Amino acid sequence: MKRHELSTEHDDLRAAVETFAQTEVKPVIGDFYERNAFPYELVAKMGTMGLFGLPFPEEHGGMGGDYFALCLALEELARVDSSVAITLEAGVSLGAMPIFRFGTEEQKKAYLPKLTSGEALGAFGLTEPDGGSDAGATKTTARLENGEWVINGTKSFITNSGTDITALVTVTAVTGRREDGRPEISAILVPTGTPGFSVGQKYSKVGWNASDTNELVFEDCRVPEANLVGERGRGYAQFLRILDEGRIAIAALSVGLAQGCVDESVRYAHERQAFGNSIAAYQAIQFKIAEMEARAYTARLAYYDAASRMLAGEPFKKEAAIAKLIASNAAMDNSRDATQVFGGYGFMNDYAVGRFYRDAKILEIGEGTSEVQKMLIARELGLPA
Ligand SMILES: Cc1cc2nc3c(=O)[nH]c(=O)nc-3n(C[C@H](O)[C@H](O)[C@H](O)COP(=O)(O)OP(=O)(O)OC[C@H]3O[C@@H](n4cnc5c(N)ncnc54)[C@H](O)[C@@H]3O)c2cc1C
Repeated sequence: MKRHELSTEHDDLRAAVETFAQTEVKPVIGDFYERNAFPYELVAKMGTMGLFGLPFPEEHGGMGGDYFALCLALEELARVDSSVAITLEAGVSLGAMPIFRFGTEEQKKAYLPKLTSGEALGAFGLTEPDGGSDAGATKTTARLENGEWVINGTKSFITNSGTDITALVTVTAVTGRREDGRPEISAILVPTGTPGFSVGQKYSKVGWNASDTNELVFEDCRVPEANLVGERGRGYAQFLRILDEGRIAIAALSVGLAQGCVDESVRYAHERQAFGNSIAAYQAIQFKIAEMEARAYTARLAYYDAASRMLAGEPFKKEAAIAKLIASNAAMDNSRDATQVFGGYGFMNDYAVGRFYRDAKILEIGEGTSEVQKMLIARELGLPA
């Protein structure tokens, strides 16, 4: 099979999400965005459609699909709106996936059915005020005391962490020192409502305004020792694995935004008249749109390739980093060009391209900046760290 061919199941799913995005998300999302409001009803509908359960087995309430299915859904959602898409991406790939991959049977039973149905959201707390790219420099600590972890520290920019349906956050914390003196980092599950765990400031963001992002504060927050996720001391390595996969998902989301820019530009170029012609007749506009399509198309091939390697059990770290790097570039470039095609209207919040422009930048930052992707690619090529 060629890597870029969709199976019937994948294409049916893609088409169902496309219909949902175009008919249910598109008409309402601009209003949520302007009010900085979280779209609970849309999230509930995505839950009913099974989107939060796509890559999980049925025994955990999932749909029995694969990670590529999630990526296709993200692409179709982001063609219309990135806040909704990132809510799904973070809910699945950062919220539920660490528990599915590394959690105990008890943790899976307690949380996965709620997370995979979309009834609840989970969050992933790695970034701190003093370090995101250098995630190994975690300052949050967790010490074992009478069978409980006592957590202290602050996490920054955590997606889905403060909604009314947020059930938990999995955080990285220093739980000791290794023999070589380096910090031992572990992952610990903290349920919402645990005393000592509070949601700090809500940010005023440039984009993703209908998604939920918060600072989290832990002050002598106590959770049972059994809330360790995975092996003690493997928290950092586990999170890196989660981020490798997450990069393919963010690449898919970026391709969706890049394609949405093409969709909107083609439509608007036909409608808009200037100098006695539709602007679609002008080669300068055609070339701009042709380049946009070429970027979206090549970035899509890159994420399809990375996803198919991952599903085949082949190494995919380099391909995931390449896909994220070029897809986020494509999203950024396309949103700038689409806004230009729209002229002054592109600068107005009433038009989707203005939202695309504001939403594109974070794609070059979140889940590893573009510089971090280049570092990963260089290391995979054997260049020194
Ligand atoms: C809306 C939003 C949602 C987010 N959601 C989450 C979430 O759910 N969970 C979570 O844990 N985090 C989340 N993040 C955090 C995000 O992953 C980090 O912002 C990102 O990893 C970058 O970290 P930083 O902001 O600390 O930047 P820094 O690491 O301080 O980087 C600053 C600049 O320096 C560059 N740089 C750093 N080190 C090097 C180097 N060695 N060589 C070259 N350049 C370098 C970076 O590329 C960047 O350009 C979110 C962020 C945002 C804005």
